Amino acid sequence: MLVDTFQRRITYLRLSVTDRCDLRCTYCMPEKMRFLPKAEVLTLEELHRLATAFIAHGVRRIRLTGGEPLVRRDMMDLVRALGRQIGTGLDEVTLTTNGTQLAQHADALAAAGVRRVNVSLDTRDRALFAELTRRDALDKVMEGIAAAKAAGLEVKLNTVALKGRNEDELPDLIAWAHSEGHSVTLIEAMPLGEVDEDRFDHFLSLETVRARLEERWTLTGSDHRTGGPARYFDVAETGGRLGLITPLTQNFCEGCNRVRVTTTGQLYPCLGGGERVDLRAALREGDGDGALQAAMQRAMAIKPLRHSFAIDGPGEAPSQPRHMSVTGG
Ligand code: SAM
Ligand code: SF4
Repeated sequence: MLVDTFQRRITYLRLSVTDRCDLRCTYCMPEKMRFLPKAEVLTLEELHRLATAFIAHGVRRIRLTGGEPLVRRDMMDLVRALGRQIGTGLDEVTLTTNGTQLAQHADALAAAGVRRVNVSLDTRDRALFAELTRRDALDKVMEGIAAAKAAGLEVKLNTVALKGRNEDELPDLIAWAHSEGHSVTLIEAMPLGEVDEDRFDHFLSLETVRARLEERWTLTGSDHRTGGPARYFDVAETGGRLGLITPLTQNFCEGCNRVRVTTTGQLYPCLGGGERVDLRAALREGDGDGALQAAMQRAMAIKPLRHSFAIDGPGEAPSQPRHMSVTGG
């Protein structure tokens, strides 16, 4: 079992299958993002071996992420392989996607045993979408969301709240999502990696957003838990569920149950920390899984109690030099 020094049991793995992406969200990466050389990236077999080792150590849920997971060609083979392991210690396989290629893959995901997908959608306004992602791809994303629903997948939308950008649209976006049967989780922008803008200019506290939503709707704290950092509210008027992830304004690390592995096999026990263990070296050491298991346990010894993100003023350096697309959002 994987238990850290604060007695938190690790049951959830976020596995990044690529750092590459077909969008360039302005808060996530610069336009001229430098991606990792392909030679450094784990093979499909290595990713699968890693995931299997985590399952053997008590991980029950795996989320595939990136970068954009669906841009990796052999990604569906990994989904199918993990899908076959559901019920053998693994409870679920999910993915976080930007949705641009979801329409092509929705049926295959459902057939492989995926039940839920998180789709990132910050706006339904085509011009704003193009500005925020630097690509004119809203139609494809909307097609992807519709295809996922048609395939019977539960869709949760992830929306980064951004001052002066989507802040006025948030109620409409939430109302639309709830009318479609999708829950929405709002996220505060995190200071991870250099981007071409100052994140301070668009940082929006979710306490502010919540207060504004409460002028319009009745939000009731919900018992719903996913084992993740979101706090949930039921919205009486829309009949839907709203999640809030507040890494900056309200820390949630106490109950952390997860670790992240990058596409080069670097295990980061905390999204907001620099601590890291090289699982790729352990994977390639060739003594069965002994070195890998020892490396996973080393990560437990260095998992920090909490992150300490801050976006307090203009011109601040990111808390971590790594972009979210590297560690896996
Ligand atoms: N490409 C996929 C997507 O966009 O869903 C998966 C990876 S992406 C890094 C995962 C999530 O992280 C997305 O919902 C995205 O909006 C969010 N994200 C990216 N950079 C972020 C940042 N600096 N702060 C907060 N959320 C961020
Ligand atoms: Fe790509 Fe996701 Fe980052 Fe946007 S948030 S650039 S879709 S990895």
